[in-house]
Amino acid sequence: MTMRGVLTDLSVPRYLATAAAQRLPGGLGKGAGWGSSGMISLRDDLPVPELPEAPGWVRLRPELSGICGSDTAVAHAKTALVLSAFYAARRQIFGHEIVAVVDRAGPGVTAVSPGDRVTIDPVLSCAHRGFAPCRSCREGFPYVCERFDQPGVTRCHSSTLGFDATLGGGWSQYVVAHQTQLHPVGAIPSHRAVLAEPASIALHAALHWKRRGDRAVVVGPGTIGLLLIAALRRLHPDLDITAVGPGAFSQAHAVRVGADRALAPGPHVVEALAELHGGRVIRPRLTRIPVLEQGVDVVFDCVALPQSLDLGLHLLRPTGMLVLVGGAGKQPVDWSLVWNRQLTVQGTVNSGPEAALGGRTTMAQVVEWLADPSYVVDGLVTQTFGLDDWRTALRTASAGPRAGAVKVALRPDPGIPLVS
Ligand SMILES: [Zn+2]
Repeated sequence: MTMRGVLTDLSVPRYLATAAAQRLPGGLGKGAGWGSSGMISLRDDLPVPELPEAPGWVRLRPELSGICGSDTAVAHAKTALVLSAFYAARRQIFGHEIVAVVDRAGPGVTAVSPGDRVTIDPVLSCAHRGFAPCRSCREGFPYVCERFDQPGVTRCHSSTLGFDATLGGGWSQYVVAHQTQLHPVGAIPSHRAVLAEPASIALHAALHWKRRGDRAVVVGPGTIGLLLIAALRRLHPDLDITAVGPGAFSQAHAVRVGADRALAPGPHVVEALAELHGGRVIRPRLTRIPVLEQGVDVVFDCVALPQSLDLGLHLLRPTGMLVLVGGAGKQPVDWSLVWNRQLTVQGTVNSGPEAALGGRTTMAQVVEWLADPSYVVDGLVTQTFGLDDWRTALRTASAGPRAGAVKVALRPDPGIPLVS
């Protein structure tokens, strides 16, 4: 049995050729890996994924699947090479932000039945791979499992669904997941349910900050940044939240989902916050960004580029926390303020069980929010494309606000009805 899907061939020569083409002057750059001989192509002859030989596995038909920044980063050959240790599959089908319909329940499945609509937590940890739990899994952090590189019964060479063709993916007609990864969504509209995974990432990031103080900054109001603002607003109704990001489009969205204000990025953010909250602006003699004394308590950086990291560090009060939400890579950053003001830099990835939620998973909480119309995330899915238009979809997602896009979604099978 075969299926349609968008396949990414990440054999090293192709990836390196794409990365090299990105750097060529004269326009060969963007989308260089998407040609017929490139890394990514639409195929009609992909094998339908088999259920692993273990209890509890389910085959699903994706209804809608989001395009993540991590997907466009691979498409533009901009991912951190060190992470290839955890995403080792040569053939990948992207799509890990999935709302899907249960197609076939394998042996031992009790949690769902064929026809159920679900969203999928894409993390694959020891429990799914048939291993005794590693230390991370045992201690309640399966989202940073210590066996992410070992396939076990899944035969899947990646830490999450959506980066290995073996179990299919959201950008194809079928995907395979374990019943413990599934969260029924009932009649939640497709354009909300498809946000469950990025909203879980955002909530997991928000929960990393044990609240100390009343002021937060969220840098980068893309999908994750906006969902993070929405989560912070939900968790802390009285928190003062400043969004920092370019353009009226993103800024309007940021205020709509719960930010008190949105500012364009740049050194002037320091002066603006000092004026708003009464902090002091201290000017170093030799660098460009002033330091905010009596600064904010936490900065969530959803961009993680040198200029955003630098700005974030200058905004924090002593002992404040910088939460790295965006995929950071090799970046030149002045770390002086980290040691000199005893800042904490906290990474965050994936989602899972949360002590702050009494052991419930982030996604269970988010699905509850998505069912509540007062969780203001309507309008974040800005464009939906069929598989035939995958190139336009990737281009639109890559352009972001310049294309009027927040979350771009693919609809892999027009035979699966959307719920509105
Ligand atoms: Zn583990």
